[in-house]
Amino acid sequence: MRVLVTGGAGFIGSWLCNFLLEKGYKVFCLDSLITGRKDNITHLLTHEKFTFIRHDVRKKIGIRADYIFHLASPASPASYMEYSIETSLTNSIGTYMMLELARKNKARFLLASTSEVYGDPLEHPQRETYWGNVNPLGVRACYDESKRFAESLTMSFHRKYGLGVRIARIFNTFGPRMRSDDGRVIPNFIVQALSGKDITVYGDGKQTRSFCYVSDMVDGLMKLMFTEGIDGEAVNLGNPDERTIIEVARVVKRLTNSESRIVFKPLPLDDPTRRRPDITKARRLLNWEPKTDFEDGIKRTIDWFSDKLRS
Ligand code: NAD
Ligand code: UDP
Repeated sequence: MRVLVTGGAGFIGSWLCNFLLEKGYKVFCLDSLITGRKDNITHLLTHEKFTFIRHDVRKKIGIRADYIFHLASPASPASYMEYSIETSLTNSIGTYMMLELARKNKARFLLASTSEVYGDPLEHPQRETYWGNVNPLGVRACYDESKRFAESLTMSFHRKYGLGVRIARIFNTFGPRMRSDDGRVIPNFIVQALSGKDITVYGDGKQTRSFCYVSDMVDGLMKLMFTEGIDGEAVNLGNPDERTIIEVARVVKRLTNSESRIVFKPLPLDDPTRRRPDITKARRLLNWEPKTDFEDGIKRTIDWFSDKLRS
């Protein structure tokens, strides 16, 4: 079976490629490297069932595939704000190109969507039935609104052409292979703590997120793709273990034995105040739930960043 992973040189995509190869699939990794890195997949380049193609998903490509995991998109707020137009077009035109490719191949298609479709949520925790509270003019809209558009286009291909589709609403995910400069909270805090710099909490740190370790996320994505009879479903994937950001800063400081100070910086515009997935649907449809404890995941990520900073 041939599997295409767009965004396969990114953080989650590269782990997904690993996992698919272990299961014996032939993997085609498509990535423009706008936010991903070749380093993430160097160890796979000699694998006989792995092919890397540097390509921008906004452009047409002919490739045979039975399954398409569509992950290509900048994901960290710092990146998608820097590449706002590329992000909007990647999630709109890029998703259209990959849906057309899936249609031609009669391939099954999984869209990596996001908890950002819920915006600054008025319902808590967030269930898939919640329609969201997104500012369409705001600085995060290039990402939020284009992911919402990608979801709706995916559903149109499902309804109009009977394409087999699944939508993963991914909540904050962390682990090794995140870029140290990608701006997201876990790599920021770990790198700051390990290098003795101030740990920068934005706002008062009372905003919450729920963090999922990457191996659990990849397991969920695999189950969502390969479970039969769930075409057209959108499913939350994430860990319901909700934490305040100040608590995350304290955990990272403690687990790194760091002398760093915790300092407060202005809260970015439109930063959601809380976020926690209701994963009842994932449990029911996929028999999936995350297994990795938050602090265990943080320790593994610290170990990885420590090695990286030493080398
Ligand atoms: P990442 O930035 O590490 O990976 C994204 C990859 O997509 C990168 O390798 C990048 O180079 C590639 N890419 C971007 N635009 C492209 C284009 N036009 N053509 C080809 N490749 C392109 O981010 P990630 O955290 O691994 O996120 C992967 C997916 O999961 C994204 O779709 C993201 O929206 C979604 N997601 C991630 C999280 C999270 O917490 N990590 C949360 C919600 C959703
Ligand atoms: N954050 C922080 N300090 C940092 C980076 C992020 O306090 O150095 C906060 C950010 O304001 C947000 C939360 O951590 O409230 C998660 O941010 P991230 O960029 O990781 O992802 P988001 O969930 O906002 O997409």
